[in-house]
Amino acid sequence: MSVEKINTLVVGAGQAGVAMSEHLSLMGVPHVVLERNRIAERWRSERWDSLVANGPAWHDRFPSLKFNGISPDAFAPKERMADYFEEYAAMLKAPVRTGVEVLKVERHVGRPGFKVTTSQGVIEASNVVAATGPFQRPAVPNIVSEQVKVQQLHSSAYKNPGQLAEGAVLVVGAGASGSQIAEELQKAGKTVYLSVGEHYRPPRAYRGRDYCWWLGALGLWDEVRITPKKKHVAFAVSGYDGGKTVDFRRLAHQGITLVGLTKACHNGVMEFEPGLAANVAEGDRAYFDVLRDADAYIEQNGLPFPPEPEAWELLPDPDCLTHPLLSLDLAQAGITTILWATGFKFDFSWLQVNAFDEKGEPFHKRGICAEGGIYFLGLPNLVNRASSFIYGVWHDAKYIADHIVLQNEYMAYEKS
Ligand SMILES: Cc1cc2nc3c(=O)[nH]c(=O)nc-3n(C[C@H](O)[C@H](O)[C@H](O)COP(=O)(O)OP(=O)(O)OC[C@H]3O[C@@H](n4cnc5c(N)ncnc54)[C@H](O)[C@@H]3O)c2cc1C
Repeated sequence: MSVEKINTLVVGAGQAGVAMSEHLSLMGVPHVVLERNRIAERWRSERWDSLVANGPAWHDRFPSLKFNGISPDAFAPKERMADYFEEYAAMLKAPVRTGVEVLKVERHVGRPGFKVTTSQGVIEASNVVAATGPFQRPAVPNIVSEQVKVQQLHSSAYKNPGQLAEGAVLVVGAGASGSQIAEELQKAGKTVYLSVGEHYRPPRAYRGRDYCWWLGALGLWDEVRITPKKKHVAFAVSGYDGGKTVDFRRLAHQGITLVGLTKACHNGVMEFEPGLAANVAEGDRAYFDVLRDADAYIEQNGLPFPPEPEAWELLPDPDCLTHPLLSLDLAQAGITTILWATGFKFDFSWLQVNAFDEKGEPFHKRGICAEGGIYFLGLPNLVNRASSFIYGVWHDAKYIADHIVLQNEYMAYEKS
């Protein structure tokens, strides 16, 4: 039986896989994109119902297609995001095969290329692009044992407040997901505790420009060297409620109780780190840095942007910030749900090639692996800050497609 052969096989049809397909097509590289579910599946089934894009529609898109039927300054609802990538793939006539899972990729022995075992048979590929996402598997810290009688769920399984048991909720993690979900739950009438660790909370907008614009103007999307500290802190920005700055003091004044980083749970009693005020102060410092850099940019370029003095004003410190709880008895507080908004980890168990470092992390430069023919796309900081976002992945895909074309040319060379 003959085995299907393809030059380049892309694994995953989220935004990264679709962008990769566009550039491979433009450069004439025969390829196929395999997706185990549907195009942009994560936006459909692994996000909560009310989620909207974190960036405005003029920004969170690919260059070749604008959003229809939505204001450029609005934040597209998550289903609209998924539809956008489906429309995009249709526009490209992208060779996407849905419902096909890649189970294993192995290097051929004694000849170039890879054997790709899928749920629908084997394909041989010269190149494999892993476009399976920056956020693959829920990461839940091992803090609360199953003996503790609370509902525990990760943000990727959260849909809406109606899904939660009656009672109060502890949301752990205050990045984009945790801060939005906590506010939604509080507005739905729940008593909410929000565990806040280190975070980065830029202004949603300043002096008439959205933060995405400022990231571009100030060159921050292109930031290549993100210090290890910054790399791991939660990025608290959202388009929730029309787009507002994530402000932990505001959330506290609305009725959410802020607590520090969640440390442990003993006999149903949660323990929190004492550094809540320091975490919030550090978030404020970074927030004011953006305002300062923006002001300097406006002045340097003589731009007519209106001043916004109110952006410099902080709300008064709430009690939970000045006198933070260091422990909380779940039963006494009536907490019936712990919602872990604690991020994600990788799962490349299917990629059985020499493309990982000693810690098991993808080992590459700008997505190109030392294991020739293997590429990563869409990972956080793959090239720069933009790499895991819609805005950035399209450009990274172009670079990888270019590299694939060059390698194909080497392989095709015949000495005259
Ligand atoms: C809550 C949340 C909100 C976000 N909001 C924004 C935003 O507003 N703007 C923005 O720019 N970014 C946002 N992001 C970040 C990023 O844009 C998304 O995570 C996006 O889904 C990443 O796209 P991707 O194509 O790299 O990966 P994914 O969307 O994760 O796509 C990977 C695809 O690979 C498939 N797959 C995985 N393994 C296999 C396999 N073995 N075989 C076949 N298929 C496989 C999956 O089914 C999936 O469809 C957000 C992230 C989160 C978590």
